[in-house]
Amino acid sequence: MKIFNTLSNQIETFTPIEEGKVKMYVCGPTVYNHAHIGNARPIVIFDTFRRLLEAQGYKVSYVSNFTDVDDKIIAGAKAEGMKETEFTKKYIEAYLKVREDLHTLKLTSTPKVTETMDAIIAFIQQMIDDGYAYIIDGDVYFSVGKIPDYGKLSKQKLEDLQVGARIDENDKKADPLDFVLWKKTDEGIQWDAPWGKGRPGWHTECVVMINNEFKHTPIDIHGGGMDLRFPHHENEMAQEEAVHHDHLANYWMHNGMLVFDGEKMSKSLGNVVLAKDVIERLGSNVTRWLLNSAHYRAPLKFNEEAIEQAQTEVVRILSSLRQAQVKLALATNIKVSQVSHTEFKKDFLEAMNDDLNTPNGYKVVFDVVKQLNTEIRARDISYDRVAELIEALEWMLGILGIEVEKVVLSDDDRALYAKWQKAKAEKDFAAADSYRSELAKRDLL
Ligand SMILES: [Zn+2]
Repeated sequence: MKIFNTLSNQIETFTPIEEGKVKMYVCGPTVYNHAHIGNARPIVIFDTFRRLLEAQGYKVSYVSNFTDVDDKIIAGAKAEGMKETEFTKKYIEAYLKVREDLHTLKLTSTPKVTETMDAIIAFIQQMIDDGYAYIIDGDVYFSVGKIPDYGKLSKQKLEDLQVGARIDENDKKADPLDFVLWKKTDEGIQWDAPWGKGRPGWHTECVVMINNEFKHTPIDIHGGGMDLRFPHHENEMAQEEAVHHDHLANYWMHNGMLVFDGEKMSKSLGNVVLAKDVIERLGSNVTRWLLNSAHYRAPLKFNEEAIEQAQTEVVRILSSLRQAQVKLALATNIKVSQVSHTEFKKDFLEAMNDDLNTPNGYKVVFDVVKQLNTEIRARDISYDRVAELIEALEWMLGILGIEVEKVVLSDDDRALYAKWQKAKAEKDFAAADSYRSELAKRDLL
């Protein structure tokens, strides 16, 4: 498998630290509102990536956090007159519902900031003790200047960053690039730390959670949106360097952003496009298919045209598959040998293993669909062939997270089908037509 590593800025062959196992962490949401459709893209991408790994025998540990301490959360909880933990609970549930509706596999673990405070405080303390962080009036800052290769993930030089950075008038920090590890506060949710009351900054939680959850760093893969490369991931790396003099992850994967086609979209979906509303309108399969339709590192155009295309494609695939499944299920007297179609599967894996190239993976799916359509329309159907194509297609759709309804035929369905075949054989066209339309009504043709 090959993946583009943001850290080395090139495509690399993926080699896990421990054979057969993959440890993966993806930054999760700040839970102060409902997930935007843009937040749903990494959900689908990294779940697909995990399924791809698992399909090839890897055992994947996939951790993703909830940022449940944040200024927006404190403000939101205050506005609604509730505790921060109550306020975030409903958005955590809503987010998990979106994940479920997008057919994602269950996450191995979902740590929260509020449940990781002891470890966060200890981590910050160590950075202070080792001279990587300093306290000013109860706030704690990280000394970016202590990390000589700071900027290596986002490909920026420390000197260039320093030129561009400005000190805010109210800022107390020593260097404009330094970032906050702890904010002194007397409002909202807060904790006692040796240096005073307050709450952690955003950049420390993930590095602490990675160390907590996986017990050992580096892990294999750290993922997230392109927008997290700087400063968030750069700062995670800097803290790991400070505390463990080591790197956090061997491979850094970043997904491209969703691009809106503003005018067209606003008419149909409104300006704020929430993931739950999109799923409600399009259904889970179409939403998921759409979010995987561009290469994960490229921007994804989200507009009516893209929606229509995804709808058409999913219908095309699933209706062909259903027709074939029905044909196979009705062929009661045929014994099908269970062979799997290795060639198409190989093509699919080859496409997907090439830095998760879903557009090329989709092409293989359409190749199978085309072949399947030809097979089921053939005068002399090869049921073995149909069965193996169905198996290959279901396997690919499984990796893509597209759910397929099982075809279950009743005795009545089978009897009706037999009557239709008999009427056709006896050239009783009127009867054949009526059986045919009944079968069509039952979606069995
Ligand atoms: Zn993070």
